[in-house]
Amino acid sequence: MTHPTDGNCIFCKIVAGQIPCFKLLEDANTIAFMDINPVNAGHALAVAKGHWPTVDVIPADVLADVAKTAQKVAKAAFKALDPHGINLLQANGEGAGQSVPHLHIHIMPRVKGDDVNLNWEQKPGDMAAIKAAYERLKAAL
Ligand code: AMP
Ligand code: ZN
Repeated sequence: MTHPTDGNCIFCKIVAGQIPCFKLLEDANTIAFMDINPVNAGHALAVAKGHWPTVDVIPADVLADVAKTAQKVAKAAFKALDPHGINLLQANGEGAGQSVPHLHIHIMPRVKGDDVNLNWEQKPGDMAAIKAAYERLKAAL
């Protein structure tokens, strides 16, 4: 697997060893390191080695490798940090809050009462609206 790179990308620079990180593990297609702006203790990132910005363009096998790396880090976080929970989070595009356009999964330990704004109240949807979105999505698969 050849890994595309982008000379201006902070994660490509970390993959290339040009800037430092707290590296947790590394394999053929992925690297995991600590997030430099942690929302809670242990916040880490599982990152593709190649520069693929988003989920729609990364090869499926590399995405699977990133997910496997995220699982390894999450297991270690459950074991070593005893969090109340862990979110795996992956953003695609600025509108989704992605700040580094190089695919990564956050491993985000959670603590009760933290102010991480990820959880939403469940409100029943409008069936016609759900069906309309379903039909558009299904037609695109
Ligand atoms: P996102 O906003 O989902 O694209 O997440 C990007 C994450 O990368 C943020 O949580 C940043 O704190 C983190 N980040 C940015 N630069 C670095 C860096 N040099 N080392 C580690 N984490 C970084
Ligand atoms: Zn990159």
